[in-house]
Amino acid sequence: MKLVRLNPGTKFKANCNLCKATGVIVTPETKDGLAYVCFSCNGRGYKERIVKEEDSIFVESGVGTIIEEVDDFVREPISFTGRKEASGVTHVVYPGNFLVENPESLKRQGYDPRYVLPYGIFFRENALPLPLDDQICPAMLEERYGKKEFDNKCDLGDYKKCPKFNDSSECWKKFYGKGSLILSHGKKQRRLKEMSSN
Ligand SMILES: [Zn+2]
Repeated sequence: MKLVRLNPGTKFKANCNLCKATGVIVTPETKDGLAYVCFSCNGRGYKERIVKEEDSIFVESGVGTIIEEVDDFVREPISFTGRKEASGVTHVVYPGNFLVENPESLKRQGYDPRYVLPYGIFFRENALPLPLDDQICPAMLEERYGKKEFDNKCDLGDYKKCPKFNDSSECWKKFYGKGSLILSHGKKQRRLKEMSSN
């Protein structure tokens, strides 16, 4: 096996460390197969990475696997080769400022499958759930993905204290479409994917 050092500035897709390339996160709060969309990679399972001067990153010649030397004895393959399937996950939601329950209780509260997305659709069709728009603040959601373009400078820290908590429809219109009133599901999906593009 011959390892060739990658030059600084080389770009590649690296496995997302937070979700271990699955695109979803299971926490002690999530129950009964519910998982969050990973807010580090927005469910993609990978992050664009650019090799820095101080990195020790190599490519295995002939195979193409990219390997990082973590310390003198540990070398890890880090190149993204497709999303890994998460075991035990049945439904996916966006993480928000709300008490997470289980898929059944969210369905009882009236969320349709576009919001509490069956995992198979997330995994096979590369779709994202829609954020639970009465439970998640769009400005806070955008900030999780490192974007600060939202023009509501609320800075409340707690969505429940927001005067718009009971009707955030104006904020969601800004989030999805910069003023457009009705957006198709496809356009919402595109907006969510754009949000975390890096
Ligand atoms: Zn991730």
